[in-house]
Amino acid sequence: MKCKLCPHYCDISENAYGFCGVRKNVDGEIVSDNYGKITSLALDPIEKKPLYHFFPGSKILSVGSYGCNMKCGFCQNFEISQNKANYEYLSPEKLTEIAINTQDNIGVAFTYNEPTISFEYVVDCAKLLKQADLNVVLVSNGQINSAPLEKLANLVDAWNIDMKAWSEDFYKRQFGDFETAKRTVEIVSKTAHVEITTLIIPGENDNDYEIAAMSKWLAGISADIPLHLSRYFPRYNYDKPATPKDTLFRLVRIAKQQLNYVYVGNV
Ligand code: SF4
Repeated sequence: MKCKLCPHYCDISENAYGFCGVRKNVDGEIVSDNYGKITSLALDPIEKKPLYHFFPGSKILSVGSYGCNMKCGFCQNFEISQNKANYEYLSPEKLTEIAINTQDNIGVAFTYNEPTISFEYVVDCAKLLKQADLNVVLVSNGQINSAPLEKLANLVDAWNIDMKAWSEDFYKRQFGDFETAKRTVEIVSKTAHVEITTLIIPGENDNDYEIAAMSKWLAGISADIPLHLSRYFPRYNYDKPATPKDTLFRLVRIAKQQLNYVYVGNV
């Protein structure tokens, strides 16, 4: 069976998993093995997603499962993205009930690990959350093919999409697809609020050219899309020192030549 959810297009034999370690061939059908398996649940400030221009000052119930369809050596969340962590099962009905009963909560953010690989769960929850007049937020690497994305896009109110770099080579080294990430931003910006995050890693994606080129592309969609340049700290397989603050401030100045809202994160 071929999984057509993301650009890996995995061929999965009976009872085996795809590259993400989540989607599985069961009796000739591709299913998501992490359906409803929640590893993290917290009421976070919306700014923590980060979303700075979507109900600023509010809080959102944030949930994550496990697994990812990229394998970034610098992953800042590798404990749940690259491993099957302990989980609690929450049906879409139960998650919606918790969201409704949580005080001062504007909705549910699917975050912490890559939510699009839990496609069926996110869709099932999003339908119920919309019925309850709650917001649906996705924090994603954007690695989802157009056909499933079109089915999801109308159910999502806001996205934070991680643009890892402005380089096909960089994406390949982290097992992702540059063109898919760009296309996802272009598609979802037509139907939802969008903000972009880029983790700036010394010697990897911190050159002026990349940020200038990415900002120009983003401004072509809308100069009002907020860009968050986030500070890298050594994690997982990367032991380079943390990004110098001066680098971040230099790149912010470059991005601001094209974009109206550029922020520094994790300093
Ligand atoms: S979602 Fe998982 S199984 Fe499906 S194509 Fe992507 S990596 Fe492969």
